[in-house]
Amino acid sequence: MLEALKEEVCEQNHELPRNGLVVGSGGNVSGRDGATGLVVIKPSGVKFAKLTPDKMVVVDLDGNVVEGAMKPSVDTGIHLFLYRHRDDLGGIAHTHSPYATSFAARGERIPAVLTPITHMIGRDVPCSRYATPGEVDTGKAILEAAEGGAAVLVKAHGVFTMGKSATEATAIAMYLEEAAMTTHLALLRGPVEELSQEEIDRCHGWFRRNYGQHGTKPVSS
Ligand SMILES: [Zn+2]
Repeated sequence: MLEALKEEVCEQNHELPRNGLVVGSGGNVSGRDGATGLVVIKPSGVKFAKLTPDKMVVVDLDGNVVEGAMKPSVDTGIHLFLYRHRDDLGGIAHTHSPYATSFAARGERIPAVLTPITHMIGRDVPCSRYATPGEVDTGKAILEAAEGGAAVLVKAHGVFTMGKSATEATAIAMYLEEAAMTTHLALLRGPVEELSQEEIDRCHGWFRRNYGQHGTKPVSS
């Protein structure tokens, strides 16, 4: 079942190590099927190089395994919490990518100083309060901090990105890490001027209308 979604979710999980966003088996991507509401997610503790579409696990929104021989990711509960509370989400990615997570380690947001990332997410990247590891507290902290947006740092933990598909959530995670690295480097040399929300809104609207072959509509804040 859901063969196309399994292919997509598997491929997007492979993008995490390819782009230097994860080490070992840490990090995960999921996708939600719009028709059935079922979620496809990476199995727990399996090295990325070993992931194939048939190893993906299908779960319902309560966490029951509907198909798959392996246990789903340890973070499945967080993904499902977010899907249950955000009807707009079709994909979620989670990483501990180093530059973005260095902001999370300090409990700091990533300021909106670069247009490419703000094109995609329409705002700065907020940092949540500290959350006890586990699905409910972390899920609540992400929801609160996201305010309907597409990317959140979880204090002392890492990055969660959300999109209308697994592919979009993963793309946001990749560009967010690039922006975090560049912002960090710029801040080393002194204060950096933040973009105004008015300018961010203008760029975000332009990007949504013009990006890609048919335009795109990333999750907006
Ligand atoms: Zn994590």
